[in-house]
Amino acid sequence: MADIAIIGGGAAGASLFGELLRRGSARVHWITGDRAVAGRGVAYASGSGRHLLNVRAQAMSLFAGSEGEFLQFAAQRVDGAGADDFLPRDLFGDFVEAQVRACADQALLQGRHFQIHGDDAVQVEPLCDGGYAVRLAGGLLIKADAVVLALGALSPRPLKTVSREALQGGAYVLDPWHVNRRETAPRRVLVIGTGLTAVDTLLSAGARWPQAELVAVSRHGQLPFEHGLLPLPPYAGQSALNTTLLASDNLLAMLRHVRRAIAAAPQADRRSLVDGMRPINARLWRRLDARQRRQFLRHLRWLWESARHRVAPASAEALTAMREQGRLRLHAARVLGVDGHGPLRVSLRHRATQQLDTLSADLVIQATGLDTAVAFTEHPLLSRLLRDGLAMPDPLQLGVAAHPDGQLINARGELQVGLYAIGALLRGNLWECSAMAEIRVAAQQLARRLAAADSVGVSHAGGASAGKLREPAAGLAPSA
Ligand SMILES: Cc1cc2nc3c(=O)[nH]c(=O)nc-3n(C[C@H](O)[C@H](O)[C@H](O)COP(=O)(O)OP(=O)(O)OC[C@H]3O[C@@H](n4cnc5c(N)ncnc54)[C@H](O)[C@@H]3O)c2cc1C
Repeated sequence: MADIAIIGGGAAGASLFGELLRRGSARVHWITGDRAVAGRGVAYASGSGRHLLNVRAQAMSLFAGSEGEFLQFAAQRVDGAGADDFLPRDLFGDFVEAQVRACADQALLQGRHFQIHGDDAVQVEPLCDGGYAVRLAGGLLIKADAVVLALGALSPRPLKTVSREALQGGAYVLDPWHVNRRETAPRRVLVIGTGLTAVDTLLSAGARWPQAELVAVSRHGQLPFEHGLLPLPPYAGQSALNTTLLASDNLLAMLRHVRRAIAAAPQADRRSLVDGMRPINARLWRRLDARQRRQFLRHLRWLWESARHRVAPASAEALTAMREQGRLRLHAARVLGVDGHGPLRVSLRHRATQQLDTLSADLVIQATGLDTAVAFTEHPLLSRLLRDGLAMPDPLQLGVAAHPDGQLINARGELQVGLYAIGALLRGNLWECSAMAEIRVAAQQLARRLAAADSVGVSHAGGASAGKLREPAAGLAPSA
């Protein structure tokens, strides 16, 4: 029986843990980190009822094919919780915890082998007879035939334009999920970013400091689009559009097809067209070469992300109210520098006028979203994997270089057999891979692969830990 180590205690780790336990064909070692409650990770331990899921209740689940289970769970706890509601993220965290507990109880009854380690993994070392030794911070060594990195996004790094003085003064907050209590309420809070993380940050700051003026700055000043109260009808021409997109092999042609589809059906809601592309996004991404991916990131990412990662109606309404009351201002501007130690001076260049401006703020919160630039990370395990040559950064700094099945590519450009990633670390490979819909499918496919007795992942014939690249029968991209 193979030993499989999962490193990372978020929802991706939880989904894979459950999938492997259900199959019962491996001994599972789940290393959940020393900070988080197993399964909640960053997203579902928010601690605030104001932070809502950006997916309707009926579409959230931990396991592929189990859609609806979260809704059942929620209906027992929240009066009137409905299929189309955007419920608190913490409630989904409760659900994940309950699912993990149920899987573990069932596995115990069935005499299946697993261990959960509430510690950080600090090193993964290949063994000469195949497999890996995973070292935990507390000193424990775990031998595993395959290791899966389910580490989520990296801890945020300060923007290059923030001075050392500003970072050290305590008025610049790098991690928007941990804003410390302050002796005096800030008069002005400036949030860098206008995506979903910024939305939550603004809502929390607005509730915590009702007298504070809020300012949010990003290059385009674009908040996420809003979800409708009810699900949108599908775009009628979606299937034809997706077929055409999949036949294109360059970004400009793809853009042209989308524009034509919009022009041909002006009455259709563009958001539903974006939703309808979701099942093929990973395949489209893989059709783009590095130059085109770079172009997408530079010119289209902001718009794509605002349309694709939308905000729940209640959150959008709260933001609109704050803007109408004059409590929240948005700027489309580039942050040129953050200096001082409180109040901080934030220098900007406005996008429309190119004019320079300086704002002072008692508190500046960096809410710029997922960081996946592994080459610059101080994450002890990842930086060690890079140093040891077992992993390599994706060329666009979107995580690690990997095969479509999630197996890492090492510094020699070879497959690092048996060392996998799941979730945000695979953005370079799949682009769309960090939300529950993609994660649970990836976890199911990976569990299937690992559970197969002679799977590529757990076969180390001759002790080799690196193998030739070959295309798997099915990648980790979601099939639906
Ligand atoms: C604020 C926010 C809101 C979101 N909302 C939604 C939503 O509504 N719907 C949706 O589908 N998706 C949402 N997402 C996407 C979300 O990323 C996924 O749903 C999911 O939570 C990702 O889980 P993960 O396990 O990949 O990462 P994480 O949740 O980041 O978990 C990774 C875990 O690994 C641990 N870890 C890191 N290094 C080590 C180590 N060396 N050893 C041991 N443990 C380690 C970390 O401490 C962390 O607990 C949201 C994401 C964020 C950040």
